[in-house]
Amino acid sequence: MKRDFAVIGLGRFGGSICRELSMEGMEVLAIDIDEDKVNEFKNIASHAVIADSTDEATLKDLGIKNIDHVIVAIGDNIQASILTTVVLTDFNIKKITVKAQNDYHEKILNKIGADQVVHPERDMGKRIAHNIISNNILDY
Ligand code: ATP
Repeated sequence: MKRDFAVIGLGRFGGSICRELSMEGMEVLAIDIDEDKVNEFKNIASHAVIADSTDEATLKDLGIKNIDHVIVAIGDNIQASILTTVVLTDFNIKKITVKAQNDYHEKILNKIGADQVVHPERDMGKRIAHNIISNNILDY
Protein backbone atom coordinates (compact mmCIF):
# COMPACT_ATOMS: atom_id res chain seq x y z
CA MET A 1 0.00 0.00 0.00
CA LYS A 2 1.46 3.36 -1.02
CA ARG A 3 1.10 6.17 1.46
CA ASP A 4 2.33 9.69 1.35
CA PHE A 5 5.02 10.86 3.73
CA ALA A 6 7.06 14.03 4.09
CA VAL A 7 10.32 14.15 6.01
CA ILE A 8 11.47 17.60 7.10
CA GLY A 9 15.15 17.74 8.07
CA LEU A 10 17.52 15.30 6.40
CA GLY A 11 20.15 14.86 9.12
CA ARG A 12 21.17 11.38 10.36
CA PHE A 13 17.72 10.68 11.85
CA GLY A 14 15.48 12.23 9.18
CA GLY A 15 17.77 10.98 6.43
CA SER A 16 17.55 7.43 7.72
CA ILE A 17 13.74 7.59 7.92
CA CYS A 18 13.57 8.99 4.40
CA ARG A 19 15.87 6.26 3.06
CA GLU A 20 13.95 3.40 4.73
CA LEU A 21 10.49 4.64 3.69
CA SER A 22 11.71 5.10 0.12
CA MET A 23 13.31 1.64 0.07
CA GLU A 24 9.95 0.20 1.19
CA GLY A 25 8.38 1.77 -1.90
CA MET A 26 6.65 4.67 -0.13
CA GLU A 27 6.14 8.07 -1.71
CA VAL A 28 8.33 10.50 0.24
CA LEU A 29 8.67 14.25 -0.06
CA ALA A 30 12.09 15.16 1.40
CA ILE A 31 12.57 18.74 2.61
CA ASP A 32 15.63 20.52 3.97
CA ILE A 33 16.85 24.10 4.11
CA ASP A 34 20.34 22.92 3.12
CA GLU A 35 20.96 22.45 -0.61
CA ASP A 36 23.67 19.78 -0.14
CA LYS A 37 21.35 17.64 2.00
CA VAL A 38 18.58 17.94 -0.58
CA ASN A 39 20.94 16.95 -3.41
CA GLU A 40 21.91 13.84 -1.43
CA PHE A 41 18.26 12.71 -1.49
CA LYS A 42 17.38 13.65 -5.08
CA ASN A 43 17.74 10.04 -6.25
CA ILE A 44 16.35 8.45 -3.09
CA ALA A 45 13.07 10.24 -2.30
CA SER A 46 10.20 10.72 -4.76
CA HIS A 47 10.72 14.49 -4.48
CA ALA A 48 13.46 16.44 -2.72
CA VAL A 49 13.13 20.20 -2.25
CA ILE A 50 15.06 23.02 -0.62
CA ALA A 51 12.68 24.87 1.69
CA ASP A 52 12.44 26.56 5.08
CA SER A 53 9.72 24.58 6.83
CA THR A 54 8.93 27.44 9.23
CA ASP A 55 7.47 29.32 6.26
CA GLU A 56 3.75 28.57 6.09
CA ALA A 57 3.32 29.76 2.48
CA THR A 58 6.19 27.55 1.29
CA LEU A 59 4.74 24.44 2.93
CA LYS A 60 1.35 25.26 1.44
CA ASP A 61 2.87 25.59 -2.05
CA LEU A 62 4.52 22.19 -1.60
CA GLY A 63 1.07 20.65 -1.07
CA ILE A 64 1.91 19.50 2.45
CA LYS A 65 -1.82 19.62 3.32
CA ASN A 66 -2.37 16.53 1.15
CA ILE A 67 0.25 14.43 2.92
CA ASP A 68 -0.90 11.78 5.41
CA HIS A 69 2.09 11.66 7.71
CA VAL A 70 4.76 14.32 8.22
CA ILE A 71 7.95 13.61 10.16
CA VAL A 72 9.75 16.65 11.59
CA ALA A 73 13.38 15.68 12.11
CA ILE A 74 14.88 19.06 12.97
CA GLY A 75 16.74 18.58 16.23
CA ASP A 76 19.25 21.29 17.03
CA ASN A 77 17.12 24.24 16.01
CA ILE A 78 14.34 23.81 18.57
CA GLN A 79 12.65 27.05 17.53
CA ALA A 80 12.41 25.89 13.90
CA SER A 81 11.11 22.50 15.04
CA ILE A 82 8.36 24.10 17.16
CA LEU A 83 7.37 26.64 14.49
CA THR A 84 7.20 23.91 11.85
CA THR A 85 5.02 21.75 14.10
CA VAL A 86 2.64 24.67 14.77
CA VAL A 87 2.27 25.30 11.02
CA LEU A 88 1.59 21.59 10.44
CA THR A 89 -1.03 21.35 13.20
CA ASP A 90 -2.77 24.43 11.69
CA PHE A 91 -2.91 22.50 8.40
CA ASN A 92 -4.65 19.59 10.17
CA ILE A 93 -2.17 16.98 8.90
CA LYS A 94 -3.44 13.47 9.79
CA LYS A 95 -0.29 12.41 11.63
CA ILE A 96 2.68 14.48 12.79
CA THR A 97 5.75 12.79 14.26
CA VAL A 98 8.42 15.06 15.72
CA LYS A 99 11.94 14.40 16.98
CA ALA A 100 12.55 15.99 20.40
CA GLN A 101 15.97 17.19 21.46
CA ASN A 102 15.28 17.20 25.21
CA ASP A 103 12.47 16.83 27.78
CA TYR A 104 11.35 20.49 27.58
CA HIS A 105 11.18 20.30 23.81
CA GLU A 106 9.13 17.08 24.12
CA LYS A 107 6.71 18.73 26.56
CA ILE A 108 6.10 21.69 24.23
CA LEU A 109 5.63 19.42 21.20
CA ASN A 110 2.99 17.43 23.07
CA LYS A 111 1.21 20.62 24.14
CA ILE A 112 1.07 22.09 20.63
CA GLY A 113 -0.48 18.94 19.18
CA ALA A 114 2.24 16.65 17.81
CA ASP A 115 0.71 13.15 17.49
CA GLN A 116 3.93 11.31 18.22
CA VAL A 117 7.09 12.64 19.84
CA VAL A 118 10.26 10.59 19.55
CA HIS A 119 13.54 10.98 21.37
CA PRO A 120 15.81 8.70 19.31
CA GLU A 121 18.93 8.69 21.50
CA ARG A 122 16.95 8.02 24.70
CA ASP A 123 14.59 5.48 23.10
CA MET A 124 17.47 3.59 21.46
CA GLY A 125 19.41 3.61 24.74
CA LYS A 126 16.43 1.98 26.49
CA ARG A 127 16.07 -0.66 23.76
CA ILE A 128 19.75 -1.51 23.83
CA ALA A 129 19.73 -1.76 27.65
CA HIS A 130 16.81 -4.23 27.50
CA ASN A 131 18.57 -6.10 24.73
CA ILE A 132 21.73 -6.38 26.82
CA ILE A 133 19.71 -7.70 29.79
CA SER A 134 17.87 -10.32 27.72
CA ASN A 135 21.10 -11.44 26.02
CA ASN A 136 22.76 -11.78 29.44
CA ILE A 137 19.84 -13.88 30.69
CA LEU A 138 20.18 -16.19 27.67
CA ASP A 139 23.95 -16.46 28.27
CA TYR A 140 23.49 -17.96 31.77
P1 ATP B 1 20.67 14.40 13.38
O1 ATP B 1 20.87 14.26 14.86
O2 ATP B 1 19.39 13.78 12.92
O3 ATP B 1 21.85 13.99 12.58
P2 ATP B 1 21.68 16.94 12.78
O4 ATP B 1 22.38 17.26 14.05
O5 ATP B 1 22.47 16.48 11.60
O6 ATP B 1 20.49 15.93 13.09
P3 ATP B 1 19.82 19.05 12.97
O7 ATP B 1 20.40 20.38 13.28
O8 ATP B 1 19.12 18.31 14.02
O9 ATP B 1 20.95 18.19 12.25
O10 ATP B 1 18.86 19.28 11.72
C1 ATP B 1 18.48 18.23 10.91
C2 ATP B 1 18.26 18.83 9.53
O11 ATP B 1 17.21 19.79 9.59
C3 ATP B 1 19.49 19.53 8.95
O12 ATP B 1 19.84 18.92 7.73
C4 ATP B 1 19.04 20.96 8.76
O13 ATP B 1 19.55 21.56 7.59
C5 ATP B 1 17.51 20.83 8.68
N1 ATP B 1 16.80 22.05 9.05
C6 ATP B 1 17.06 22.87 10.10
N2 ATP B 1 16.21 23.90 10.12
C7 ATP B 1 15.37 23.72 9.05
C8 ATP B 1 14.26 24.46 8.52
N3 ATP B 1 13.83 25.59 9.07
N4 ATP B 1 13.63 23.98 7.41
C9 ATP B 1 14.05 22.82 6.82
N5 ATP B 1 15.08 22.09 7.28
C10 ATP B 1 15.74 22.53 8.36
